[in-house]
Amino acid sequence: MIDIKGLRKSFGSNEILKGIDLQVNKGETAVIIGPSGSGKTTLLRCINLLETPNGGSITIGKSELAFREDKKVSNSETLTLRQRTGMVFQGFYLFPHMTVIKNIMEGQVTVLKRSKKEASEKGLMLLDKVGLLDKKDQYPHELSGGQQQRVAIARAMAMDPEVLLFDEPTSALDPELEAEVLKVMKDLSKEGMTMVVVTHKMSFARDAAHKIIFMDNGLIVEVGTPNQIFENTRNERLKQFLSMID
Ligand code: ATP
Repeated sequence: MIDIKGLRKSFGSNEILKGIDLQVNKGETAVIIGPSGSGKTTLLRCINLLETPNGGSITIGKSELAFREDKKVSNSETLTLRQRTGMVFQGFYLFPHMTVIKNIMEGQVTVLKRSKKEASEKGLMLLDKVGLLDKKDQYPHELSGGQQQRVAIARAMAMDPEVLLFDEPTSALDPELEAEVLKVMKDLSKEGMTMVVVTHKMSFARDAAHKIIFMDNGLIVEVGTPNQIFENTRNERLKQFLSMID
């Protein structure tokens, strides 16, 4: 589903991703962990081309893009790859002047050219799924942070992405609101949604990840199942990281 080879990204002379190879299979939940500044967010932003990589390649489903310093990626290539992904951010970035249901319909109508009826039906189905059907006519500021994030997840799902990308989706939330968002994410994972999640929530990684990716200093240092990563690693850097956060 996702196949990343030799991915590199620099900001000026500062190389942040130093050659990332990563495969995520269809239906897998991959959780990326690692110290602050190791490049986790940059990797996620490269996968949906919010940042343009300097080298390497990304394949998502049937779309493959190779990156070279001397060749600009076209807008249509960017859009094709980006439409295969949905992104959920730490801040929820809902449209503040639109109701919840309008937030979920907007991209469906403008980008996917669905009819309003179709977009509304899909929106209501997804709101039901994230437990927020009764909030459909509210505005974002009338919702809690956890509810806003669940709307953001429904909005990303409405675009029928092949992969959902989450960038620290609960780190702005209080613990009880965090739990309701993690529950929605675990349900999606169980249903076989392909997901790549950057998080510091090790409980989520233990419960939901099929694959955990440990990044350090711009490289993937270790990949394994939760059991391999949490119980059986021999990697000193990973052990040290886990001892600091658990
Ligand atoms: P955290 O867990 O703290 O979110 P991270 O592993 O997600 O960290 P990144 O956000 O990917 O790390 O950042 C990696 C490095 O890249 C940092 O040193 C950061 O300052 C740098 N960086 C990220 N985005 C930019 C940018 N747009 N311009 C310049 N430097 C950047």
